[in-house]
Amino acid sequence: MTQPTPPTPFDIAPEVLTERFGGRRCEVTPGLRRALDAICPTSTDAGDLAEHARDWWPIAIGWAAAGEVPALPGLVVSPRNADEVAAVLAACTSASVSVTPSAGRSGVCGGTIPLLGGVSLDLCGLNQILEVDEESLLVTVEAGVFGPDLEAHLGSIGEGYTVGHFPQSFALATVGGWLACRGAGQYSTRYGKIEDMVVGLTVALADGRIITTEGGAPRQAVGPNLTQFFVGSEGTLGVITSATLRIHPKPAAEARRAASFATFGEGLEAIRRILRRGATPAVVRLYDEIESKRTFEVDANVLIVLDEADPLLLDATMAIVDEEIAQATALEDRHVAHWLEHRNNVDQLAPLWRNHIVVDTIEIAGRWRDLDQSCTAVLEALRGVPGTMVASVHESHAYPDGACLYFTFVGRPEPIEGEDPLAAEQRYYDAAWDAANAVLIERGCAISHHHGIGYNRSRFVAPSLGAAAGVLAELKATLDPAGIMNPGKLGFALPG
Ligand SMILES: Cc1cc2nc3c(=O)[nH]c(=O)nc-3n(C[C@H](O)[C@H](O)[C@H](O)COP(=O)(O)OP(=O)(O)OC[C@H]3O[C@@H](n4cnc5c(N)ncnc54)[C@H](O)[C@@H]3O)c2cc1C
Repeated sequence: MTQPTPPTPFDIAPEVLTERFGGRRCEVTPGLRRALDAICPTSTDAGDLAEHARDWWPIAIGWAAAGEVPALPGLVVSPRNADEVAAVLAACTSASVSVTPSAGRSGVCGGTIPLLGGVSLDLCGLNQILEVDEESLLVTVEAGVFGPDLEAHLGSIGEGYTVGHFPQSFALATVGGWLACRGAGQYSTRYGKIEDMVVGLTVALADGRIITTEGGAPRQAVGPNLTQFFVGSEGTLGVITSATLRIHPKPAAEARRAASFATFGEGLEAIRRILRRGATPAVVRLYDEIESKRTFEVDANVLIVLDEADPLLLDATMAIVDEEIAQATALEDRHVAHWLEHRNNVDQLAPLWRNHIVVDTIEIAGRWRDLDQSCTAVLEALRGVPGTMVASVHESHAYPDGACLYFTFVGRPEPIEGEDPLAAEQRYYDAAWDAANAVLIERGCAISHHHGIGYNRSRFVAPSLGAAAGVLAELKATLDPAGIMNPGKLGFALPG
């Protein structure tokens, strides 16, 4: 299978790049370089180093436009299988050189930025689909496989299968990235988040061991679930080299609905009732007035519903949806078609940042009982930050106990006299994130639903997790005593 080069939002020459965080501190020594060269392909090409210096973290797009990257790796290392990954990790642990796993580099929190330089571990070469078990409805796939390749392969077998994981970044991201960030696809209400889809992993540890977690048989009770321990670990605890995921026969039928509500809260309430009755339509998305106007040209709060399933299940699901949205204003199904057509557009951010307009998104989760109030509080906090032009929200993933809210903020900071424009952007950007997260932590919401933590959100992890953050740090110290695995991410401190 040929592997696409991950597209990037950047288009500047690597030779003009300067490092944002003051230069690397973790050198790849000649001895380590020789050891790594003996394991697999490596590169010090300026273009390769620059590409591996960054992901889609929005503020870094503005930096890149100004000729800056966050931090350059010393070496890009490209293993082709789990054994090579493990050998690279063992060599880097022996040399105490940091390793930053990188795959599609579509993360939006700076997770693949090699803060200390060292090795950028490019996992795109782990690109094999290892096994499809049609009877048990499972696929085992290497971590560097991109979504479109996986779905094309599954779709070509018999009547066709699907994993059902369709993030907006579908074409940009890998299976390993989905798992490492604990991602969510747009059809998650039927198929679940990635943590619901995975049944087992193969993981290479910092000391060079390779372990397999569950996957051999369903629902084992042989100790805690180590699979879930590595899901969401963002390359800080180990490198996921392959995964066994659930698959589903391609659905036989599909149905769509669209409606509008006078208030966002009324729309949320309708979604809560749908989920409470056990209906799980694949897509249940509600947009506030600002986003409804921008996306659908409707002056109200637009709900779109789409489901795909066996016709009997589909009829039952849509009957519940119809009952629960009966009081809303019915809209034509073309709004769902419009959403489907534009749902994977990924090119809106870069032009705004290049024009010094700061824009980013914050996806969170909260319980139904106070979700509407949390929503209002976050919007007020974002709008209260000087420089904010617009703050808006949509609901994108729903559960019986709560939902994900996806905020977008746009601002143009006024530079203080003599202030560099990039410094003004950073000041505004940090203030917006601080304001939203203060509300989320105070209200007990999850500070991330599917983008993960990376570098940008690291400062909020300890206040969000409390004492559990300390337990996580102790577990990391056991698995990665040299502290080489993606240092400075997921709330873990950089080694001293
Ligand atoms: C326009 C756009 C839309 C997006 N929409 C969605 C969406 O709808 N849903 C969603 O969930 N996310 C979304 N994202 C975020 C991003 O695509 C996801 O986080 C994705 O899962 C990252 O996968 P990746 O292969 O690009 O990983 P990368 O960005 O390369 O890496 C992300 C993190 O995971 C670590 N990592 C990567 N692979 C491995 C591995 N095999 N083992 C251990 N650690 C690893 C890296 O070190 C890094 O910390 C979007 C991003 C963009 C730019």
